[in-house]
Amino acid sequence: MSYAQYLRYKKEAKEEKLKMTRLLDDSIQKIRARHSTREIKYPEYNEAFEYVDDRFPKAQAKEAVVLECDRSFLDKIGYKGVGGFFSRPHKIVVIPDVFYASKRKRKKTIWETVSGEFEIDEVLVHELLHYVSNKTCETWKSLQVEEEFAYGNSADYLRSRGRADDDIIRKNFMPYLMSIVRQKRHILDDPTRSQTEDQLLFNKAIKEAYQLGVDILAIWDAKCKGTKINPAKTIPFKDSAINLDLD
Ligand SMILES: [Zn+2]
Repeated sequence: MSYAQYLRYKKEAKEEKLKMTRLLDDSIQKIRARHSTREIKYPEYNEAFEYVDDRFPKAQAKEAVVLECDRSFLDKIGYKGVGGFFSRPHKIVVIPDVFYASKRKRKKTIWETVSGEFEIDEVLVHELLHYVSNKTCETWKSLQVEEEFAYGNSADYLRSRGRADDDIIRKNFMPYLMSIVRQKRHILDDPTRSQTEDQLLFNKAIKEAYQLGVDILAIWDAKCKGTKINPAKTIPFKDSAINLDLD
């Protein structure tokens, strides 16, 4: 991109970040005020906390503020179909009380059939990894780098729960992987596409997404076998999205 484009991108990204912070402020406030919200403290979900703590002992994941909020309320305030989230400005992890894939009444397109399946402790591990990444390195990283760090580092936990790699890619990673492939290939919803065309495009995208999942697992397995992991330095995917430091 040209320098002018870069500046515009930088400005837009800053505005986007500000908007996001305001949204998160609002969400966290609502979640805290909700009567059924409770704070999760170690040793509840001890295996999830211990897994992340063992991997990144310096980040003190056991000290993380984790709020558990009822699913229907999260849906209501705009987190439909979102497993959980980590609010970077507040350093707070939010998880739902139950996980379910977004239940759309009728799936309009084949693309909407892609949904994830997580247990709550698995959501917690994923979000705690975002917490750890933020604690270890405060600078802004691209969303893709951040997600690959969380997905890649959660694999051993998922395996310890009895999931095979194939299952991890298809059930846990797939919604994320598909979003990356769609972004990369500029696949938008297009009602003018015939069903056959849509199916062909979908099959190709699923295949590519699956391979991306295989790559992420392989890259992170190799990294995790090394002696030390510094999340700030790990850019696992050679073809990562624009990764500009915006600070
Ligand atoms: Zn994530």
